[in-house]
Amino acid sequence: MKDFLVGTNIELIEGDRSDDSLGAHVCDESKGIIRVSTNADHVPFQLHTVLHEIREIIEFHFKRLGFPTANSSELESHADQFAFWVPIYAAVRSADLIFYDISEANAGWKKWASDPLLGICALLYCLLSFYGAFGYRFQGVSVKR
Ligand SMILES: [Zn+2]
Repeated sequence: MKDFLVGTNIELIEGDRSDDSLGAHVCDESKGIIRVSTNADHVPFQLHTVLHEIREIIEFHFKRLGFPTANSSELESHADQFAFWVPIYAAVRSADLIFYDISEANAGWKKWASDPLLGICALLYCLLSFYGAFGYRFQGVSVKR
């Protein structure tokens, strides 16, 4: 993530947010700045907040080029969906490598034990990502990003 931010010239600033939001961004053609809240209540949402803001910065550039992909009322939900899917795609990519090793090593009865366990881990991971991406919506109307 840090490499991606450096490569795309986005500065990440962590700290208290006076407006009680999870995060926000500002950007122009050359540079973006993402601010995320370090408030203890907001920490579970930090990664997803950064992803949410990245999606909004991407949209800014699409719009600037004349190819918007979301209107302003869709943008928040598109950004949350982006924040939900990116960690899952990233996990699936790294899990592919791990699964390959496991299936090589686990022939026979061990495979029957490991598959449900991996399934449960995958489900928990999806739930965590769902919470990070959308959970703030259930916490109160004042929390936003
Ligand atoms: Zn937003």
